[in-house]
Amino acid sequence: MKLIDGKAVAAEIKNNLKHEVDAYRLSSGRSPHLAAILVGDNPASQAYVGNKVKSCGEVGFNSTLIRLDANTSEDALLHQIKLLNEDPDIDGFIVQLPLPDHIDEVKVTLAIDYKKDVDGFHPYNFGRMAQGLPCFLPATPYGITLLLERYNIETAGKHVVVVGRSNIVGTPISILLSRKSKTGDATVTLTHSKTKNLQSILLKADIIIAAIGIPNFIKDDMVSQGAIVIDVGINRIESESYTNGSKLVGDVDFEHVRYKASMITPVPGGVGPMTVVGLMLNTFKAAKKEVYQ
Ligand code: NAD
Repeated sequence: MKLIDGKAVAAEIKNNLKHEVDAYRLSSGRSPHLAAILVGDNPASQAYVGNKVKSCGEVGFNSTLIRLDANTSEDALLHQIKLLNEDPDIDGFIVQLPLPDHIDEVKVTLAIDYKKDVDGFHPYNFGRMAQGLPCFLPATPYGITLLLERYNIETAGKHVVVVGRSNIVGTPISILLSRKSKTGDATVTLTHSKTKNLQSILLKADIIIAAIGIPNFIKDDMVSQGAIVIDVGINRIESESYTNGSKLVGDVDFEHVRYKASMITPVPGGVGPMTVVGLMLNTFKAAKKEVYQ
């Protein structure tokens, strides 16, 4: 089994990006600028946003973190989005999900100017992605395609089974992998909570992409010998037996599946760092006006 080291690939890409950002700063006299809005104090969201802000510093971006109280109204959030849409110094921004229940995520996503939508969640970017047009790819699927590329994982003609159909991971990665492209041309089966006989479908997969949100869901008897396994899940499980009282695990039962897989991503240190890389690359494209004028 070979470990797919997302942490190392992310560090390598960020290091290269830093040099490009230095050159951009010299020629343009400014630094790319990413803003993030965090509503409430969900510990996981705070950690994700913290990593994104830290990465901005590593690659030479300016970053602005806007923290709003958990009971911020939807109108107040939409107003903040409007300010960022109109601020010429902000190249791109994200609204960290999930949002509190009283705020409509769809409304919020639609309010973001698609030219600054560096998470790639806006339907305009999603539609362009589906048609293979220039766009901001959703950060996690983007990161996954970079990992596949970096490890020379052939996708053409392969059977990829994606588990989970969310708008931010499962559905877009299934579209990207089935498109005619370098990390595409695969035959993709998109499975979800209503799928019957998931185990038999998974056993026919050359590549499995798990984005479910259930700890250790994919067991070794669901994976054929030699399959490649990409685990997107990030789940915190609590137990007094762990040093800090909890630990992060993926959607794949790594300890057992690793003996079946030919290649596998760990959690943490697999897809997670690559999501941040996807976001950094999108922000740099936004600063350079590479996708939209
Ligand atoms: P989601 O909750 O929006 O979607 C989960 C999907 O899993 C649904 O489409 C559902 O149909 C499917 N599902 C649920 N139970 C199932 C079952 N028994 N069999 C088959 N499918 C089932 O989740 P999401 O936002 O896509 O996130 C999935 C996981 O990925 C979570 O653990 C999340 O924390 C993680 N995540 C990680 C990153 C990263 O950067 N690594 C980014 C986004 C999400």
